[in-house]
Amino acid sequence: MGAMVWLFDTPPRGVDNVGRPLGWPGSALIARAAQGAGCGPDPAATCDIARLDDGRSRCRRCGAWWSASQVARYGAVARSDESIGVDIEDRRRRPGAYRRASVWCGVDLTTPEQWTQAEALWKAMGLGHREPAAGEIPLSPTWQLGWQPSRDGAWWLYSDTGLCPWSVAVPRHGRSLPPSVSTVRKDY
Ligand SMILES: [Zn+2]
Repeated sequence: MGAMVWLFDTPPRGVDNVGRPLGWPGSALIARAAQGAGCGPDPAATCDIARLDDGRSRCRRCGAWWSASQVARYGAVARSDESIGVDIEDRRRRPGAYRRASVWCGVDLTTPEQWTQAEALWKAMGLGHREPAAGEIPLSPTWQLGWQPSRDGAWWLYSDTGLCPWSVAVPRHGRSLPPSVSTVRKDY
Protein backbone atom coordinates (compact mmCIF):
# COMPACT_ATOMS: atom_id res chain seq x y z
CA MET A 1 0.00 0.00 0.00
CA GLY A 2 2.89 2.38 0.63
CA ALA A 3 2.53 5.64 2.47
CA MET A 4 -0.08 8.31 1.79
CA VAL A 5 0.50 11.85 3.08
CA TRP A 6 -2.05 14.67 3.23
CA LEU A 7 -0.75 18.23 3.66
CA PHE A 8 -3.40 20.66 4.89
CA ASP A 9 -3.59 24.43 4.85
CA THR A 10 -5.35 24.98 8.15
CA PRO A 11 -7.33 28.13 8.98
CA PRO A 12 -6.17 30.07 12.07
CA ARG A 13 -7.61 28.82 15.34
CA GLY A 14 -6.64 31.73 17.56
CA VAL A 15 -3.83 31.81 20.09
CA ASP A 16 -3.25 30.22 23.49
CA ASN A 17 -2.93 32.19 26.74
CA VAL A 18 0.72 33.03 26.04
CA GLY A 19 0.03 34.18 22.49
CA ARG A 20 1.22 31.12 20.56
CA PRO A 21 -0.90 30.13 17.53
CA LEU A 22 -3.17 27.17 18.29
CA GLY A 23 -2.92 24.11 16.05
CA TRP A 24 -5.77 21.76 15.15
CA PRO A 25 -6.11 18.54 17.14
CA GLY A 26 -4.47 15.56 15.42
CA SER A 27 -7.69 13.55 15.64
CA ALA A 28 -9.57 16.26 13.69
CA LEU A 29 -6.89 16.28 10.97
CA ILE A 30 -6.97 12.48 10.69
CA ALA A 31 -10.78 12.46 10.45
CA ARG A 32 -10.57 15.07 7.67
CA ALA A 33 -8.00 13.03 5.72
CA ALA A 34 -9.93 9.78 6.21
CA GLN A 35 -13.08 11.26 4.59
CA GLY A 36 -13.35 9.71 1.14
CA ALA A 37 -10.00 7.91 1.47
CA GLY A 38 -11.59 4.42 1.72
CA CYS A 39 -10.95 1.69 4.29
CA GLY A 40 -8.76 -1.21 3.21
CA PRO A 41 -10.05 -2.57 -0.12
CA ASP A 42 -13.43 -0.79 0.24
CA PRO A 43 -13.26 2.67 -1.38
CA ALA A 44 -16.78 3.55 -0.13
CA ALA A 45 -16.03 2.89 3.56
CA THR A 46 -14.30 5.21 6.01
CA CYS A 47 -11.62 4.08 8.45
CA ASP A 48 -12.85 3.69 12.04
CA ILE A 49 -9.81 5.09 13.82
CA ALA A 50 -8.94 4.39 17.46
CA ARG A 51 -6.19 5.99 19.51
CA LEU A 52 -3.94 3.35 21.13
CA ASP A 53 -2.43 3.72 24.61
CA ASP A 54 1.01 4.31 23.08
CA GLY A 55 -0.29 7.38 21.20
CA ARG A 56 -0.54 5.75 17.77
CA SER A 57 -3.79 5.66 15.77
CA ARG A 58 -5.12 2.61 13.95
CA CYS A 59 -8.25 1.65 12.01
CA ARG A 60 -10.32 -0.97 13.87
CA ARG A 61 -11.55 -2.43 10.56
CA CYS A 62 -8.70 -2.53 8.01
CA GLY A 63 -5.78 -2.16 10.45
CA ALA A 64 -4.28 0.86 8.65
CA TRP A 65 -2.00 3.03 10.78
CA TRP A 66 -2.57 6.79 10.92
CA SER A 67 -0.44 9.65 12.24
CA ALA A 68 -0.90 13.44 12.41
CA SER A 69 1.17 16.52 13.11
CA GLN A 70 0.44 20.25 13.01
CA VAL A 71 2.05 23.66 13.09
CA ALA A 72 0.27 27.01 13.12
CA ARG A 73 -0.81 27.15 9.45
CA TYR A 74 -0.28 23.60 8.26
CA GLY A 75 -1.17 20.06 9.20
CA ALA A 76 0.13 16.71 7.97
CA VAL A 77 -1.58 13.30 8.13
CA ALA A 78 -0.02 9.99 7.05
CA ARG A 79 -1.48 6.52 6.49
CA SER A 80 0.22 3.19 5.90
CA ASP A 81 -0.43 -0.53 6.36
CA GLU A 82 2.53 -0.50 8.75
CA SER A 83 3.21 1.66 11.81
CA ILE A 84 3.86 5.20 10.53
CA GLY A 85 4.91 8.48 12.14
CA VAL A 86 4.66 11.96 10.58
CA ASP A 87 5.97 15.32 11.75
CA ILE A 88 5.70 18.81 10.23
CA GLU A 89 7.47 21.94 11.53
CA ASP A 90 7.85 25.57 10.53
CA ARG A 91 11.32 26.92 9.69
CA ARG A 92 11.79 28.68 13.03
CA ARG A 93 15.06 27.53 14.64
CA ARG A 94 14.81 26.26 18.21
CA PRO A 95 18.38 25.86 19.55
CA GLY A 96 17.27 24.73 23.02
CA ALA A 97 15.00 22.01 21.66
CA TYR A 98 17.68 20.93 19.15
CA ARG A 99 20.23 20.50 21.94
CA ARG A 100 17.85 18.24 23.86
CA ALA A 101 16.99 16.27 20.72
CA SER A 102 20.72 15.85 19.91
CA VAL A 103 21.01 13.90 23.17
CA TRP A 104 17.94 11.77 22.32
CA CYS A 105 19.34 11.03 18.85
CA GLY A 106 23.03 10.67 19.67
CA VAL A 107 23.89 12.87 16.65
CA ASP A 108 24.17 16.63 16.18
CA LEU A 109 20.65 17.90 15.42
CA THR A 110 20.75 21.47 14.02
CA THR A 111 17.87 21.84 11.52
CA PRO A 112 14.06 21.65 11.51
CA GLU A 113 14.34 18.91 8.85
CA GLN A 114 16.28 16.68 11.26
CA TRP A 115 13.77 17.50 13.98
CA THR A 116 10.89 16.25 11.79
CA GLN A 117 12.83 13.01 11.14
CA ALA A 118 13.43 12.48 14.86
CA GLU A 119 9.77 13.08 15.74
CA ALA A 120 8.48 10.91 12.88
CA LEU A 121 10.76 8.05 13.97
CA TRP A 122 9.76 8.34 17.60
CA LYS A 123 6.05 8.26 16.71
CA ALA A 124 6.43 5.31 14.29
CA MET A 125 8.30 3.40 17.01
CA GLY A 126 5.14 3.70 19.13
CA LEU A 127 7.00 5.54 21.87
CA GLY A 128 5.57 9.03 21.36
CA HIS A 129 3.89 8.93 24.76
CA ARG A 130 7.19 9.27 26.65
CA GLU A 131 10.44 11.22 26.47
CA PRO A 132 13.33 9.42 24.70
CA ALA A 133 16.45 8.29 26.57
CA ALA A 134 19.93 9.30 25.34
CA GLY A 135 20.68 7.88 21.88
CA GLU A 136 17.31 6.11 21.65
CA ILE A 137 16.19 7.70 18.35
CA PRO A 138 18.27 6.14 15.50
CA LEU A 139 18.65 9.32 13.43
CA SER A 140 21.30 9.42 10.69
CA PRO A 141 24.04 12.06 11.15
CA THR A 142 22.86 13.81 7.95
CA TRP A 143 19.41 14.19 6.40
CA GLN A 144 18.44 14.18 2.73
CA LEU A 145 15.37 14.86 0.59
CA GLY A 146 13.32 11.78 -0.27
CA TRP A 147 13.98 8.37 1.25
CA GLN A 148 16.90 7.36 3.45
CA PRO A 149 17.42 4.61 6.05
CA SER A 150 17.68 5.33 9.76
CA ARG A 151 21.08 5.00 11.45
CA ASP A 152 20.34 1.46 12.62
CA GLY A 153 18.85 0.43 9.25
CA ALA A 154 15.55 -0.59 10.85
CA TRP A 155 13.46 2.30 9.41
CA TRP A 156 12.83 4.17 6.19
CA LEU A 157 12.52 7.94 6.45
CA TYR A 158 11.03 10.24 3.78
CA SER A 159 11.62 14.00 4.04
CA ASP A 160 10.39 16.98 2.03
CA THR A 161 10.66 20.75 2.45
CA GLY A 162 8.27 22.08 -0.22
CA LEU A 163 5.63 23.63 2.01
CA CYS A 164 7.63 23.45 5.21
CA PRO A 165 9.85 20.67 6.55
CA TRP A 166 8.06 17.33 7.11
CA SER A 167 9.04 13.67 7.38
CA VAL A 168 7.45 10.25 7.67
CA ALA A 169 8.99 7.06 9.10
CA VAL A 170 7.98 3.43 8.44
CA PRO A 171 9.59 0.11 9.42
CA ARG A 172 12.13 -1.21 6.92
CA HIS A 173 11.89 -4.97 7.61
CA GLY A 174 15.16 -5.50 5.71
CA ARG A 175 13.68 -4.25 2.42
CA SER A 176 16.25 -2.73 0.08
CA LEU A 177 13.65 -0.55 -1.68
CA PRO A 178 11.56 2.03 0.17
CA PRO A 179 7.75 1.95 -0.14
CA SER A 180 5.95 4.31 -2.51
CA VAL A 181 4.79 7.64 -1.11
CA SER A 182 2.06 9.87 -2.50
CA THR A 183 1.27 13.35 -1.31
CA VAL A 184 -2.07 15.18 -1.46
CA ARG A 185 -2.39 18.90 -0.81
CA LYS A 186 -5.77 19.84 0.69
CA ASP A 187 -7.61 22.74 2.27
CA TYR A 188 -8.83 21.88 5.71
ZN1 LIG B 1 -9.67 1.32 7.68
